[in-house]
Amino acid sequence: MTEEPQAPRADGDAGPILGRFAGLDRRPLNLDGLSQEDDDAGLVAFESRHDPEPSIEIDDDGRVVLLDGVPAGRFDVIDSYIAGHGIDTAVAVEANSLPDLELARLIVDPATPREVVVRLAGGATPAKLARVVARLRPVELQMAIAKMRVRRTPSIQAHVTNLLDDPLLLAADAATAVAFGFRELETTVPVLGDAPSNALAVLIGSQVGAAGALTQCSIEEALELELGLRGLTTYAETVSLYGTERVFVDGDDTPWSKAFLCSAYASRGLKMRVTSGGGAEALMGAAEGKSMFYLESRCVALARAMGAQGVQNGGIDAASVAGSVPGGMRELLAENLLVMLRDLESCSGNDALVSESDIRRTAHTVPLLLAGSDFLFSGFGSVVRYDNMFGPSNFNGEDLDDYLVLQRDWGVDGGLRPVTEARLREVRERAAKAVQAVYRELGLADLTDERVAEVVLAEGSRDLSPLDPTIVLEAADAIQERELGILDVVRALEHAGFREEAERVLAMGRARVAGDYLQTAAIFDEQMHVLSKITDPNDYQGPGTGYEVTPARRLEMANIRQQRSRQDLLQRQAAGAAGRFRLVERGAAEPGVDPREVCVGVSPALATRLWLTISGLPVGEALRQILAGLEEEGCLARLVRVRATIDLGMIGLTAARLAGSGIGIGLQAKGTALIHRRDLPPLACLELYSIAPLVTKQMYRALGTNAGRHAKGLRPVPVRNPSTEQAIEARYHAEVVAMVAVERDECLPGAPPVELEMSR
Ligand code: CA
Repeated sequence: MTEEPQAPRADGDAGPILGRFAGLDRRPLNLDGLSQEDDDAGLVAFESRHDPEPSIEIDDDGRVVLLDGVPAGRFDVIDSYIAGHGIDTAVAVEANSLPDLELARLIVDPATPREVVVRLAGGATPAKLARVVARLRPVELQMAIAKMRVRRTPSIQAHVTNLLDDPLLLAADAATAVAFGFRELETTVPVLGDAPSNALAVLIGSQVGAAGALTQCSIEEALELELGLRGLTTYAETVSLYGTERVFVDGDDTPWSKAFLCSAYASRGLKMRVTSGGGAEALMGAAEGKSMFYLESRCVALARAMGAQGVQNGGIDAASVAGSVPGGMRELLAENLLVMLRDLESCSGNDALVSESDIRRTAHTVPLLLAGSDFLFSGFGSVVRYDNMFGPSNFNGEDLDDYLVLQRDWGVDGGLRPVTEARLREVRERAAKAVQAVYRELGLADLTDERVAEVVLAEGSRDLSPLDPTIVLEAADAIQERELGILDVVRALEHAGFREEAERVLAMGRARVAGDYLQTAAIFDEQMHVLSKITDPNDYQGPGTGYEVTPARRLEMANIRQQRSRQDLLQRQAAGAAGRFRLVERGAAEPGVDPREVCVGVSPALATRLWLTISGLPVGEALRQILAGLEEEGCLARLVRVRATIDLGMIGLTAARLAGSGIGIGLQAKGTALIHRRDLPPLACLELYSIAPLVTKQMYRALGTNAGRHAKGLRPVPVRNPSTEQAIEARYHAEVVAMVAVERDECLPGAPPVELEMSR
């Protein structure tokens, strides 16, 4: 990012800019647009003053004749559809007459079974549910989500796209996503005509390495449906719903036409869900002054009424509009809960990058990650940001390690797993070769071995040599003209020797005929078991219930490639031993009498088992510098090993008590050092180098010099600890633990200090 953030100076202050503000202005957060709450424009997260009071009336025939203040005669298309199909009239009066807080508490309370809440929510009007959920604080939203999501096992969806629509790269990246654990892969196109090729490449790539990942190609609705019907995709989700009639009918849509589209997918065995999200209506200038959450509540009620099995919301295209207003991030999380309350699968946002600030975008994602969802992302950009043709997701390929570590930090299942480089190389190559073979078998394109090799290594499409765009277009045209479908792909894979992939693609087709994955919140695990509301229902009811990370899964999540054992960390030490320098023991150390004598006390493992300070400096070099500093001051240096303790204060003090001058230096193998004086308490030393990773050769020499000056009764200027902005403890403490454990091993409690001689 080259842009320099510039916060507007809106407070009318006319003086020269304060350094404190100039510094804040440079933070990426200040690229974000943040809006003042404005009910009239719909720039309000919850409870606009124009939101209706919840109300419902049902006539003797069971028809809804009043919905949230609107009588049947004045229903717009959305009201009509919800009134006709979206309210369980048997519980409507009961649900809507419950006080808001009472219903809110039932939603959160772990002891109240999910089914009880689902039943009541089924009768709640959009305004009622919006007002009730608005009562929940963030932590209560998380509790409610933990209980209310449909499927017990959380999962996650990936975006798999690239700038070139390169089919080999799409396949390699689809296989990569599956290797990391994504169970739904969504692709799209920068060039519409490429879509059939993209769908095909992602379908093949998705079945390399493991079975059962679902794929979709998000494009213009008619073509998307056609690709689905031919089996080149296995689910769909980009049927968009809006909360006001004016926005809904832009583009000639109605709830009936959208419902028809949903049914068209479902009738051919394709899993499908709809898309919505707060802020979209405000963005299109027709929020009618309503709050984002109320309008979203209408969308979700509509999704239920249409018979869709799920909704992706809470962080899709207009997420930053929601994010720009007070309470907006809470609103996005609450949107996911609305879906769960309506007993639908939640594909929970995190789709659009909501902020330039890493802190803010992470804060958006973490509450949901901790609570768990059917899909934690409705599109984690599994490819690098620039290749994400949906626009950057809230997390992208660059963030995979961060996400894996977050998952490990909290011990929650974020749906992903670490992958070794060897494994990734294997699946990327296999996927690219499978697509190369199928494109040849089907006469779509002749993609070279050189390009396969490039694709396997590439981080993204910018690492590839240019691709003649007509290659992809012609392949896509051929797929359309010849109406190639899933069985053509299976045959081609089989014929080219990719039997395993052929079987897996065929299994995806077979699953459509069986239809079990049309149940709410269905995914396949890697053994092709359907996990859904029916086979894997969420049974959370407080501690000890619901989804648990199994010991095997915990181990899998823990085993990130950056993890080091203590043995790994100590390997560097063994390499540092390199025989040039030894400390030879010469018997018990006696107190000295020469007033020029300064004693240097070293820790138990220094130059016995530990040879490098944490900064990588050989301990022998640190010692030599200290001795040289003392010598320059005309002092006599004496070396002792303090064996009875690893406490640096005590090591330094012991050395000081042995020194004729009463001044001692303490040095630990990890490089921490201090100057002590025999009459001081252990923790009150004269000078301390506490930040071992930053201590240089020059500083050890200065420590020797200053110790010498103290011995002569002078008052030297203390050497300052270097300052740093780095997370120095995060970088080094894992290694420190390993080194300190060795020091502790070598420690001989009660053993007297011994005299040392340095030999090289
Ligand atoms: Ca998506």
